[in-house]
Amino acid sequence: MREAVQSIYDGVLDRNPGQPEFHQAVKEVFESIEPALERKPEYLDAAILERVTEPDRQIMFRVPWVDDSGKVQVNRGFRIEFSSALGPYKGGLRFRENVNLSIIKFLGFEQIFKNSLTGLAMGGGKGGSDFDPHGRSDAEVMRFCQSFMTELARHIGPSTDVPAGDIGVGGREIGYMFGQYKRLRNSYDAGVLTGKGLAWGGSLVRTEATGYGTVLFAQSMLATKGESLEGKKVLVSGAGNVAIYAIEKAQQLGATPITFSDSSGYVVDEAGVDLELLKQVKEVERGRVADYVERRPGARLVTGGSVWDVPGDVALPCATQNELDGDAANTLLRGGCGVVSEGANMPSTPEAVEAFQKAGILFAPGKAANAGGVATSALEMEQNAGRTRWDFATAEAKLTGIMTDIHDSCVAAAEEYGRPGDYVLGANAAGFTRVADVMIAHGIV
Ligand code: GLU
Repeated sequence: MREAVQSIYDGVLDRNPGQPEFHQAVKEVFESIEPALERKPEYLDAAILERVTEPDRQIMFRVPWVDDSGKVQVNRGFRIEFSSALGPYKGGLRFRENVNLSIIKFLGFEQIFKNSLTGLAMGGGKGGSDFDPHGRSDAEVMRFCQSFMTELARHIGPSTDVPAGDIGVGGREIGYMFGQYKRLRNSYDAGVLTGKGLAWGGSLVRTEATGYGTVLFAQSMLATKGESLEGKKVLVSGAGNVAIYAIEKAQQLGATPITFSDSSGYVVDEAGVDLELLKQVKEVERGRVADYVERRPGARLVTGGSVWDVPGDVALPCATQNELDGDAANTLLRGGCGVVSEGANMPSTPEAVEAFQKAGILFAPGKAANAGGVATSALEMEQNAGRTRWDFATAEAKLTGIMTDIHDSCVAAAEEYGRPGDYVLGANAAGFTRVADVMIAHGIV
């Protein structure tokens, strides 16, 4: 980093001690937008970097609730309203034991540029709690969600801040939170949350959108080399919503996904993943990946190492941040992997990204490759505002168009700044410059 940027980065470190994930996300953006900063000195003059790394508002609150045994539980809730330059704060809620301020801030920061890349009118935000729905009864999840929303409701609204799902937050949780919001406000503001059920304002394709988009992005990258996903062996990590629909789209495009994983291990199914069985285990039964192996002859569960030890042509990290380190990246490269498209947020460590870029393979960072989810949330908001509903084909065609546009803007920005094929630079520069230009237009706020 050059001196001026380094000293702003040092300021971020000083002001935000003990937030390694946030530091990592800021560093990646700062490093890759240097060419854009050189071209437009007004960004530094207007203190864009200092302002964009300081959230508009950081909300932390107590979430008390009573478990099934009558014991009082206390969790911590977060909502980081990071940037409203481009529209209402927009971003998911993550419910997972390891959630802390650093993780929510890195996610919120990434979300600013991801949302910008979609070309739609959304600012950036993120929230969540250190509550883990796994192993909790529906009644416990409901009481938690109601308590969480009782505080969150005062901060959000269809034109203010629009949360959605992320890890640990799916249709069930959004339903309980929407019910409580509606009760508190006495107002059917469908556009206050996205990822809603289809019967009450949800959009077709929202469930599939993140995974589908990640695969569509990989397909667009391959197309620049005159290739496609047809016949390719695909490695997927994770077994949640993103992983499941990445597998589905990869299969539709003629590829063979052979892996998925959760915290209990990873599954290798050389014959190709049986998607119906995986959906039954994860979506219906809320089970573990081991339950899949029990019912699927030929599939094996591996409990040591990582899914990246398996040789394959395409890797889709769809689990969580920093799940793919430098060693894993080198193992993947040795196994013949030529494409990485990130379905999760920041799943590759900086060492892994460096290894991929050095090897010159096609590498798409999450803020571009997984933007299909939030883009489809914007489509959900659009349908809510228009009191209308689109059919599956209409919504999917819009998602496909948006993913192609994001791909093309990354390519164009990478070329503009002299590093063709660098999707990290392309995504960060294209996402950042739109936000920065609007921040300048809005004055010092
Ligand atoms: N949590 C998702 C993401 O990381 C979706 C956010 C949304 O739909 O608002 O982008």
